[in-house]
Amino acid sequence: MTEPRATSPIAAAISIDLRIPKTMRALVKARPEAGAELREVPVPHPGPGEVLIRLEAVSLCGTDLHIYHWDPWAQGRLGKYLPRIFGHEMAGRVVAHGPGTGAVPLGTRVAAETHLVDWTCYQCRTGREHVCANLRILGVDADGAFAEYMILPERNAWPSEGLSPEIAALQEPMGNAVFATFVEDITTATVAVLGCGPIGLMAVAICRFAGASRVFATDVMPHRREMAARMGSDCVLDGAGDVVAEIRRETGGTGVDVVLEMSGAESAIHQAFEMTTNGGRVSLLGLPSRPVTIDLNDAIIFRGLRVYGITGRELWRTWYKTAALLREGLDVSPIITHRLPLARYEEAFDLLAQGVAGKVVLLPQESQIPEPESTAQSMVNEGGAS
Ligand SMILES: [Zn+2]
Ligand SMILES: [Zn+2]
Repeated sequence: MTEPRATSPIAAAISIDLRIPKTMRALVKARPEAGAELREVPVPHPGPGEVLIRLEAVSLCGTDLHIYHWDPWAQGRLGKYLPRIFGHEMAGRVVAHGPGTGAVPLGTRVAAETHLVDWTCYQCRTGREHVCANLRILGVDADGAFAEYMILPERNAWPSEGLSPEIAALQEPMGNAVFATFVEDITTATVAVLGCGPIGLMAVAICRFAGASRVFATDVMPHRREMAARMGSDCVLDGAGDVVAEIRRETGGTGVDVVLEMSGAESAIHQAFEMTTNGGRVSLLGLPSRPVTIDLNDAIIFRGLRVYGITGRELWRTWYKTAALLREGLDVSPIITHRLPLARYEEAFDLLAQGVAGKVVLLPQESQIPEPESTAQSMVNEGGAS
């Protein structure tokens, strides 16, 4: 397969070049050590149920940094898959259909639901595909998006016409924030967002946009607190301080209705339960690096809290909500601080590792010219679930 079968109306309307080369550049995790290699590799062929996508924007996430640094998690998770093209927060255009596909026309800009599910297990058949028993992750269990082209099951492609490539790519992590926020109603609720990496910042913006009455935000890093204020937080607090006492004071002693824990920091997880009002709810999305001990009696049971573990996004309820928020004017673009060509991946990962970047977007096509880098205050990514 080197030529697409037909030119679709969308492809014709935007005059996208559907010619597909034989090889492409891809960022490959080739060896079990830190780093990655930009290699010339064959353009993959879409198999049954798959489409080929020409990538336009791929943002970096904490998972990618784990893989790049080859930390113990990455070693355990990816060791058996090398070499692997990683990266998953993507947007691009469908340029070829594999057998049995065609529902998404050629030329359509899509983002990826990065949870590759089997659609047949107990969870998938009962509306809980995001926790599929046989879950595979794009860019971890299958080749991903740090490349000029990638294949994706057509069922995982989310049409995203009308969004810029970088915002289309951002829908995937934004979906984490949307799911965590809307797992219960937040209208008129007081909310605290703990941890202001990109997902926390998007949660702040979503809460503000969706009618929370007060939005508190905490982080230990000053520039991330400044960013939280820009994204709409009413009251930004230093996470290293006594935020429980401050939030209780700010809420007349009652505590907040909702806590969105986005940091994974053990101290913040304890704060989350302590600052939630009796009968309130906590969404846990940040991933602690080791087991956390909690007194269930005092933290949750006697206080009647509802606690949600948040992983991924609901298929496709979260995506519809995310698209609706963007369509209605929610602006998450301030969190994108850097845009770099794929070849400058080392710089991109360094920015992320140093904690001086918000979202870093790689542009895989040679012809793409990065926009001037934002002067926005820097942030670091949090350890949220993909
Ligand atoms: Zn399943
Ligand atoms: Zn991710």
